[in-house]
Amino acid sequence: MTHQGITMAKTNKKENELLNTALKTMNNAYVLWGFKVGAAVLAEDGKTYGGCNVESWVSGLGICAERCAINHAILHGNRKIKMVALVMHADTNKEPRPCGACLQYIYDFAENPKIKILMAKAKNGRILFETVEVKSIKELLPFPFRK
Ligand SMILES: [Zn+2]
Repeated sequence: MTHQGITMAKTNKKENELLNTALKTMNNAYVLWGFKVGAAVLAEDGKTYGGCNVESWVSGLGICAERCAINHAILHGNRKIKMVALVMHADTNKEPRPCGACLQYIYDFAENPKIKILMAKAKNGRILFETVEVKSIKELLPFPFRK
């Protein structure tokens, strides 16, 4: 089945765990004008680290959930990530997608270009598993910036 050209995928136990961590951390999002986003990364130490978006009244000072989650993993001594999950409320009517800045940041810390990005919507405190989409970082960012 396809949804906006992106193939939906069945998720395994580890992927579901990552999505549920992203869902849980979404509740902590600090939102002033936008909408809540939750993210989680599976780091090289095998643990899952959550993140949420944090906004500021000064536009540009805030941070997206994905970069917050990666920083959370870095804070615990990790240098590489193996998977990323991203969750948004279904009622925002937006497709859950990492922004361009986050795609570059994910690429910077990705263990390899094939790591999966799981994108899902949630409703009533649950992941809507029929909305889960999976793409590799290389597919979402085919031409990353590199020194
Ligand atoms: Zn972002």
